[in-house]
Amino acid sequence: MTASSYPAPGIEAVLESSPDALLVVTEDGTILRVNAATERMFGYTRDELLGQDHRMLLAEGFRSGLQRLFFALRKDADGGPLTTDADADAGPAADAPTSPMSPGFPPVEAYGLRRDGTEFQGEVACSLLAQDSDDAPATMAVAVRDTSHRLAADAGLREAMSLLSATLESTADGILVVDGDGRIAGVNNQFISMWGIPRELLATQDDEAVMGFVLDQLVDPAQFVEKVTALYAAPSAESNDILDFRDGRTFERYSRPQKVADKVVGRVWSFRDVTPARIAQDRIAKAMADLAEQAAQLKALAFQDPLTGLANRQLFSDRLASALLGPRGAAVDVLLLDLDDFKEVNDILGHHAGDQMLIEVGRRLRECVRSNDVVARLGGDEFVVLLVGSPDAEAVAGKIVESLRVPLWIDGTMLRPSLSLGLASLHEDAVDASELLRRADVAMYAAKTAGKNRYLRFRPEMMKSLVARTELEAGLRVAVDAGQIAVHYQPIVSSRLGVVVKVEALARWERDGETVPPQQFIPTAERSGLIVEIGTEVLLKGCTELKPWLAEDPFRSLAVNVSGVQLQHGDFAELVLAVTGSCGVDPRQLVLEVTESVFFDDDCHVIQQLIALRKAGVRVALDDFGTGYSSLGRLQDLPVDTLKIDQSFISMINTGEENLPILSCMISMAHGLGLTVTAEGVETPAQAEYLMNLDCDLLQGFLFSGPEAEPALASAIARSAGAFAALRGDRVAGLR
Ligand code: C2E
Ligand code: CA
Ligand code: CA
Repeated sequence: MTASSYPAPGIEAVLESSPDALLVVTEDGTILRVNAATERMFGYTRDELLGQDHRMLLAEGFRSGLQRLFFALRKDADGGPLTTDADADAGPAADAPTSPMSPGFPPVEAYGLRRDGTEFQGEVACSLLAQDSDDAPATMAVAVRDTSHRLAADAGLREAMSLLSATLESTADGILVVDGDGRIAGVNNQFISMWGIPRELLATQDDEAVMGFVLDQLVDPAQFVEKVTALYAAPSAESNDILDFRDGRTFERYSRPQKVADKVVGRVWSFRDVTPARIAQDRIAKAMADLAEQAAQLKALAFQDPLTGLANRQLFSDRLASALLGPRGAAVDVLLLDLDDFKEVNDILGHHAGDQMLIEVGRRLRECVRSNDVVARLGGDEFVVLLVGSPDAEAVAGKIVESLRVPLWIDGTMLRPSLSLGLASLHEDAVDASELLRRADVAMYAAKTAGKNRYLRFRPEMMKSLVARTELEAGLRVAVDAGQIAVHYQPIVSSRLGVVVKVEALARWERDGETVPPQQFIPTAERSGLIVEIGTEVLLKGCTELKPWLAEDPFRSLAVNVSGVQLQHGDFAELVLAVTGSCGVDPRQLVLEVTESVFFDDDCHVIQQLIALRKAGVRVALDDFGTGYSSLGRLQDLPVDTLKIDQSFISMINTGEENLPILSCMISMAHGLGLTVTAEGVETPAQAEYLMNLDCDLLQGFLFSGPEAEPALASAIARSAGAFAALRGDRVAGLR
């Protein structure tokens, strides 16, 4: 009998009677058709199966398998990876080979799931079904053969697989298993969601595409690839490292070989998202770094002068102490310096200007020394420099004094600060830090006394003058109490009348038969506050002794020097008026001489005192005008009646032929403001002539008379008038 002699059954009948379960499944996994064997094998009726998801027929752990096969088939059919729509349109699937079992896709082993919940082992084969038209949805034919008879012995394996699969799915780590050929053998759901890999992409089994997707997310993909390559070169190696994602996440990557009976068959990669831990760790690290930085800042602040940024006293002391502990014979020099007349800058130009000056001085000091030398501000306008191992400390001291020669500009005002510097060095005689500083201080004081703007090295004799200073103060106190403060009077001549119209009272200290000059004891008296008593004494004696002379002519007056300390002290105005009242002197015959700096005291009390006194008729003279930081511009705002031009300007007149615009300017400006002008320290006829030509109102100086005690005053006054007449005679003679 030949095949043609049998009646040909319909293909439908063949399918229905096939011993294998046959299904047609859509791309999304929906069951379109089943045969009778399917009903038998799985225990469902046809109606129960049609339209359902085919995965209901697969045991757990095998459910993604069919879909992946489907994708693989389609890819195969299209002759390339199924990636873009453009690719899909390029060639119709129908043109592709449609052999149901292409050699690249052998049947796969899987477990089926029956309606009653029991599982069985089977073999699944798939093929793409030819489509009626190009745009008909793709479908796949699936054949399932029950192979449980073959594998009853493999129940243990099956159990292990299901256990493994359940374990893999329950872990928080993402797991990827790669086989010996480097192909993806399996992943768990966690892996897919951690990496955000689209299921379709995974289903394509296009490992390269999956790898590209993975690499795209990494900060350093090259390092990832390098690691993978290295591990493939050493199949049994384990590794553990960190992956940084571009989106900020961090994974821990662990890799170990997959072995079967000691043979490496693949590699397991496990990934753990450690981002929260890393963020917490980063936070802690940052907090620690911040703390360390703050601590460093605090430490720096504790040793830094906030204004100048220089070292402070504390740091200087520490450095000096350790320098003194250094090797014997190493040079250690302390340069202590103080700005001259800094208080005036602060008083006249304000604290801001004072601060600017301190900052600039600090900057210049730093420029004078090496970077490892310490420059510190001790407070106020006092600075100190510590030189360790310097070959020539005096050269540095000289350089520092010199560095202030260049004027500095602050708020549009040019200033020429100067400083007095004391230098003390460590020599053979071991001295401690405080002694070294004390010596530098003594030398600095000596530099000030010697005329400021200089440096002096400490010499033991200087200690004597320090002792003398202390003795002076003690002696002055005794002298004040014992009434040893006398008053001398210097005549002041009117250049219009040619007679003495005013005398200036000047304090004298008669000490053991010697006269101590005011320059020596007035600063001491101001520092100790004794000036209050001395000033009152001078005023009282002056008013008492000069009352008769003043009474002779109401246009005569008595000038008394008043220091700022007195003005700040109590009710000065009341005291002055009480003295004039008790002595019977008209307040209009009293002139108080003050220096410009008293007006710049923050305390407006001083100005109020002067205003009150002027109301009572007392006049105010601005003494020593032109020295320090005085300015013509501010004159108009001050409550004064007279300007006393300092002797330093008068001494500029030598021959009388010179052109001194500053003098003429001062005098005419003062006149313009309604002030009278007195010239101090007139010593030569040429000076007197010059000043009279400039219309200076009053002349005072040795040319007429020096200060004299009251008994000698009458003759001093007569002598002064005589000197003036002689001057006039010269003038008249000159005119003739
Ligand atoms: P001063 O107020 O500028 O006084 C003028 C000073 O110049 C006086 O010095 C006077 O003797 C001196 N003198 C006057 N004519 C000439 C001259 O032609 N050539 C030179 N080279 N000098 C001349 P004295 O008496 O030594 O006083 C010095 C300073 O002591 C005074 O300067 C004043 O600031 C202060 N002083 C003196 N007595 C008192 C006082 O009772 N109270 C206060 N607070 N200070 C006083
Ligand atoms: Ca004076
Ligand atoms: Ca003066």
